[in-house]
Amino acid sequence: MVKPTKYINMNGKLVPWHDAKIHVLTHGLHYGSGLFEGTRIYYNSEQDQTYIFRLDAHLNRLYRGIKVYRFDKDGDFDVSKDEMFKQTVELVRENNLREKGYIRHIVYRGAMYEVPERGKSGSFGLNPFNSPVDYAIVAFPLGAYLGEEALMRGAHVTVSSWRRIEHQSVPPSVKASGNYLNSMLAKMQAVITGFDEAILLDYRGYVSEGSGENIFWIKDEQVFTTPLTASILPGITRDSIMQVVRDLGYSMKEDNITVAQLLTADEIFFTGTAGEVTPITRIDHVKIGNGSVGPITKRIQQKFWEIVEGKDPKYERWLTPVYE
Ligand code: PMP
Repeated sequence: MVKPTKYINMNGKLVPWHDAKIHVLTHGLHYGSGLFEGTRIYYNSEQDQTYIFRLDAHLNRLYRGIKVYRFDKDGDFDVSKDEMFKQTVELVRENNLREKGYIRHIVYRGAMYEVPERGKSGSFGLNPFNSPVDYAIVAFPLGAYLGEEALMRGAHVTVSSWRRIEHQSVPPSVKASGNYLNSMLAKMQAVITGFDEAILLDYRGYVSEGSGENIFWIKDEQVFTTPLTASILPGITRDSIMQVVRDLGYSMKEDNITVAQLLTADEIFFTGTAGEVTPITRIDHVKIGNGSVGPITKRIQQKFWEIVEGKDPKYERWLTPVYE
């Protein structure tokens, strides 16, 4: 459940939460032409400090999408990354967030009608170039995405019959709103059939990722994750965990994996901003290992909490403090 905060940033202005509205004739609503980011905030009570985790990496991914989907054409979107960074920190501070939470950035093609003040004719239809680019930043408290139980005891997941979108039709490497119809189909199937989450296979039939998480597995004390070529979103948590795994002294490799190989892995876990490091203890009712959270997963998860809450100075570079 999302508890409203005081302000939402809309096109650079702080507006009261309940006034952050858009028109129904918005391009992004009809055609999925939005780019978004999910970034975590963590609170350290001893320091009375809120940290934003890897905001620069999230904004880099957002701005890569802006280039691919040509939001920057004719200066339609001219907010610099530095400015977006500044406004993000400001929003968290203005909302006085002092608990675990989440930041949602969304940049989208706006009005499909005349907006002279934005220099747009606003013609109706698919061509996005006649609609202005708008953006919003929302920050709010958010706990465990797949539930506390999945986080501590492990998620029960299913292999979806829906395939992950692939590079030649819709780029899975860009976090675009429209991509999430694919994730949603898999997620609905998982929920309806009684699972916490779905794993999607790529167009070749190899394991890709979860509906909103990347996937890691452990075999013979070596850690693996699926490669970018397996139609995944290049996760910021994935990147962080790959570095942490190496720092902990384990071998870390990218590889393709089949469902049969995954079922016989020693340990499996998801990574994601919302999902954090969530162990997977059953796939389609088959126990992974002995069916409980494995020791290496536990160790990685423990390290992850220390890092995000600002308790390991070695990873300070990943954290942006919100308060003076
Ligand atoms: N894959 C998909 C499809 C996602 O939506 C997400 C969440 N952004 C991830 C992976 C994990 O990425 P990140 O660690 O950057 O949140």
